[in-house]
Amino acid sequence: MATMAMCPECEVLISIPGTLRLGKIVECPECGATLEVVSIEPPELDVVMEEEEEDWEEDLEDLEEEEELEEEDYLWEEEEDLEEDFDDEE
Ligand SMILES: [Zn+2]
Repeated sequence: MATMAMCPECEVLISIPGTLRLGKIVECPECGATLEVVSIEPPELDVVMEEEEEDWEEDLEDLEEEEELEEEDYLWEEEEDLEEDFDDEE
């Protein structure tokens, strides 16, 4: 089953094959743009920069181990900031 969605680059309706889910990557047959599904209902596509996507994959592989170690610290910092903000508002 295919879903129709509009390419934001050339504004042509293209069909998305298979199951529609967020983050699914499709290629526009009209302009060749790489598009990501950013909304299911209604179906919406956004342009993905191909070079950027490649960099992301590499970065994720390199940083995966380091980020795991630092993740706990980030979570604590965020929680503290939120509590302070709430006090100020009240
Ligand atoms: Zn297009």
